Amino acid sequence: MTVARVIVDVPSRDTDRTFDYAIPERLAAWVEVGSRVAVPFGPRKLQGIVTSLAADAEVDKAKLKPLEEVLDAIPPLSPELVSLGEWMSRRWLCPLTVALQAMLPAALKGRSEKYVVPASGAAWTEEETARSGGLLLALGKGKPLKLAALLQQYPEQGQLLKKWLREGRLEERQRVEDPLSVKTVLTVYPAEPARLREAAGAIPARAGKQRELARHLAERNEPVALARLTEAMQTTSATIRSLEERGLVEIRAVREDRDPYADREFPASAPLSLTEKQAEALAPIVRALDEGVSRTFLLHGVTGSGKTEIYLQAIQRCLESRREAIVLVPEIALTPQMVERFKSRFGARVAVLHSRLSNGERYDEWRKIREGRAQVAVGARSAIFAPFTSIGLIVIDEEHETSYKQEESPKYHARDVAVERARVHGAAVVLGSATPALETYEAAAGGGRRAEPEEPYYIALPERVANRPLPKVHIVDMREELKLGNRAMFSRLLADGIRARLARQEQMVLLLNRRGYATFVMCRSCGYTAACPHCEIALTYHRGSHNLRCHYCGYSEAEPTTCPSCDSPHIRFFGTGTQKVEEALAAAFPGIRVIRMDVDTTTEKGSHERWLTEFRERRADVLLGTQMVAKGLDFPHVTLVGVLAADAALRLPDFRASERTFQLLTQVAGRAGRHELPGEVIIQTYDPEHESITFAQGHDYTGFAERALVLRKQLGYPPYGRLISITFAHESVPMLLSIGGEFASGLRGKAASAGIGKDFDAGGRAALEVLGPVASPIARLKDRYRFQCMVKYRGDFDASLLVSGALGAIGDAVKRGGVQVSVDVDPQMLL
Ligand code: ADP
Ligand code: ZN
Ligand code: ZN
Repeated sequence: MTVARVIVDVPSRDTDRTFDYAIPERLAAWVEVGSRVAVPFGPRKLQGIVTSLAADAEVDKAKLKPLEEVLDAIPPLSPELVSLGEWMSRRWLCPLTVALQAMLPAALKGRSEKYVVPASGAAWTEEETARSGGLLLALGKGKPLKLAALLQQYPEQGQLLKKWLREGRLEERQRVEDPLSVKTVLTVYPAEPARLREAAGAIPARAGKQRELARHLAERNEPVALARLTEAMQTTSATIRSLEERGLVEIRAVREDRDPYADREFPASAPLSLTEKQAEALAPIVRALDEGVSRTFLLHGVTGSGKTEIYLQAIQRCLESRREAIVLVPEIALTPQMVERFKSRFGARVAVLHSRLSNGERYDEWRKIREGRAQVAVGARSAIFAPFTSIGLIVIDEEHETSYKQEESPKYHARDVAVERARVHGAAVVLGSATPALETYEAAAGGGRRAEPEEPYYIALPERVANRPLPKVHIVDMREELKLGNRAMFSRLLADGIRARLARQEQMVLLLNRRGYATFVMCRSCGYTAACPHCEIALTYHRGSHNLRCHYCGYSEAEPTTCPSCDSPHIRFFGTGTQKVEEALAAAFPGIRVIRMDVDTTTEKGSHERWLTEFRERRADVLLGTQMVAKGLDFPHVTLVGVLAADAALRLPDFRASERTFQLLTQVAGRAGRHELPGEVIIQTYDPEHESITFAQGHDYTGFAERALVLRKQLGYPPYGRLISITFAHESVPMLLSIGGEFASGLRGKAASAGIGKDFDAGGRAALEVLGPVASPIARLKDRYRFQCMVKYRGDFDASLLVSGALGAIGDAVKRGGVQVSVDVDPQMLL
């Protein structure tokens, strides 16, 4: 194989195909499927990924330019991940390079020099040393050698070098261009205890603190972080510097290990003995693991039903069979509390990947996985690409969470990627949730039928561990509060609840569900909101034109001045922010201690964790926040959960709005009474009859799902139909209307000639309908207007293929006009 087919890293549709390069002799041993390479491309030099190799006979090699460089000693992507990328680019209609780049840690995207060093403790025989032709001698000098230089100077030793790298006797390092990655800690190294004691006696009495320090360090007799020492001894670094001047200590900057959890101790935990229900739930998963067949499970368990313990024991089983496990949790739930449960069970075998790590930290965790030092990867969405080679189990906790869908290209859903990787590895997938996505639930349990092998297998855990009751949920009608003259944010019931908790020194979680407030119109007297008569979607308020519009079909009407339902003038209701709530709490309950958690207070690295620790240590009475406080937290002293405006998210122009609201209410209610103390939930709303709220009150997922699925079926929304949204952006509206219109009619034509009807309501097996072009919910962004077409279809045909065909047909016009096009297959957010 002397020809490499390379995908260059330019994310455009023109370059979305492989280009062939000749592999020069000196690089022959190094180029593999998945290698990152530098190639000449016109006048430029680009990076790319080798996606396949070919023999000369297949191409006219004489015409080919040679590859310039191999950028890593070990290819960062395996052949499996390269094919996964190809699958993703077909599935979500994105350029292949975009899919492949999504799998690489950021540290590997730049052009940083690679170095090779002997691993500590590695040894070589004399014979090997002789065979290495000076290579080992050069490496043995203790200075890292550049990979590029080694490849130049020892062309004959390529295979050996590679073998030793794979065996871990040599290590590949790189300098990560990331100021956060190299963390140093000022550390105090004390002199010999005897010297310190002697010197302490000679320090004059007016420098008593120095004397005390010298004695302390003699006692301690080990290096200590400067910051720790100043804190423990109630002194300043100046005092320690004076000791340094006396030659009694040395202060050095020491490189800190980048393991972000390195300084935390995790007490070892043993598997709990499972309840009968848990054992029943685990059994089929274990069976699939033992058989090594790919199978998906939906573990539908109420909050506190012991799902995590089931994950842990399934992982253990997976590791015992010498296979690896990936655990996805929502970014927001990836708190030390969650990480601790995995670390304390599996110790150093766990690698943790989340977005709050610096590039260097992430790269270190990623290498642990690739080099086989970790067998369990716990992380947010992108951890699904963990470079394991023998996956046995993939767990997705809170599988309904929207954060599993990436909102920028590649717009993949980690759940689908998990199922595809599991298929290739013969692995089990466990999707866990108290409130599964309706798509997942329908696929696994729809109609109560027995699942086929290719369908998710449904496992229910309807009760909490130890029969702890689910909390009692009260609904407060805020319209009634208004009528009674209470204009405050807190209903009387909630205010009483807060006062009672303060008196008993128990804790509370308050959720302000704020998303969507600015965009809809609601009557404060009766709860009326305007919805599209055609789509059952809330109409969106447009400030500029003062009208209300539907973002699915384009319907619009004028903004009302009085409520069409009750004539009240209180028709415009705007939400309030967490800061205002914090102020209102302070005014209504003097002395109340509040931790506010929202995007503003959690931008700083580690702040999220810090707030939660503070709350856990009961240094606050109330944890107040947005969606962030609803997820996966477990605090024993929380006995009251209050939801300030339950219905806000119901008004989002999205057919999933009521599903999301139900999920959020159920999740946040699950934060109360998880331990000995019983819990209570108070939900404030202007729409107390709404099924998202009433079913959440009854903890009735099944009731909610059955009802919601009926509506979905009537309107042809997922899971009964599927969507692809195509957004066009340009400075000129006429241009957008013309391009969008051309696309829509082109696609309709293609569907018609494939024999696919457009009438969705007719009973036919296949149907495809194109809505729009209409102005996008975000109608203008960076001076470009945005219009979208929504493709709604059902049936067993490849709609993506039709869409990409129709896009291809307008390709020239799009390029000439400079129109930006973005495609979202199975969109999750319709905003
Ligand atoms: P979920 O993930 O379903 O919300 P968890 O796994 O967090 O539930 O379990 C809820 C609580 O019950 C935790 O405090 C956990 O330690 C405890 N628990 C789970 N399984 C058992 C068991 N078999 N025996 C005793 N306690 C358990
Ligand atoms: Zn009204
Ligand atoms: Zn509509």
